[in-house]
Amino acid sequence: MKILIHVCCAPCFTYPHKRMLEEGHDVTAYFYNPNIHPYREYKNRLESVEKYVELKGTKVFYDNNYDIENYLRGALAAEDRCTFCYTGRLEQTAKMARQLEFDAFTTTLLISPYQKHDTLAQIGKKIAEQSGIEFYYEDFREGYQESRNISKDLGLYMQKYCGCIFSEKERYFPQL
Ligand code: SF4
Repeated sequence: MKILIHVCCAPCFTYPHKRMLEEGHDVTAYFYNPNIHPYREYKNRLESVEKYVELKGTKVFYDNNYDIENYLRGALAAEDRCTFCYTGRLEQTAKMARQLEFDAFTTTLLISPYQKHDTLAQIGKKIAEQSGIEFYYEDFREGYQESRNISKDLGLYMQKYCGCIFSEKERYFPQL
């Protein structure tokens, strides 16, 4: 299948990329992450993806619509900010996949044991039904450690928090 994969960061892309190539898919990366703050962190992750795709000769699209204002408004108003965050990124990926005539879309977020995996899978499925483009689901979590090892070997930047400013606070704010 011709698959457009939403890429949250280079380390999380490594293993799903390898898996999907082994399965014979034609994989194109799509970087779209207005949730990542601050901007220098966003740049670090973007540059890391640039480095990885260059090393691997992978096709890639960069969506530089870094609309943090809209993201923050939505995240603050949402009942569950991660659901809002997943939905926005996956909807945009599905839209691009449809426009560019891919067979399916997916996301590297499916590798992380720190994400709400079942929520992600449900959102992907729902967007697939609404948009008419298949959601490629695979539980990549078994490859999480391998993805860290590959990233270390390639010298890829590895972030310390999920992405948004709220997750940065959760990571560093002293818990009394
Ligand atoms: S914690 Fe991660 S998934 Fe949740 S809203 Fe923040 S960046 Fe998005």
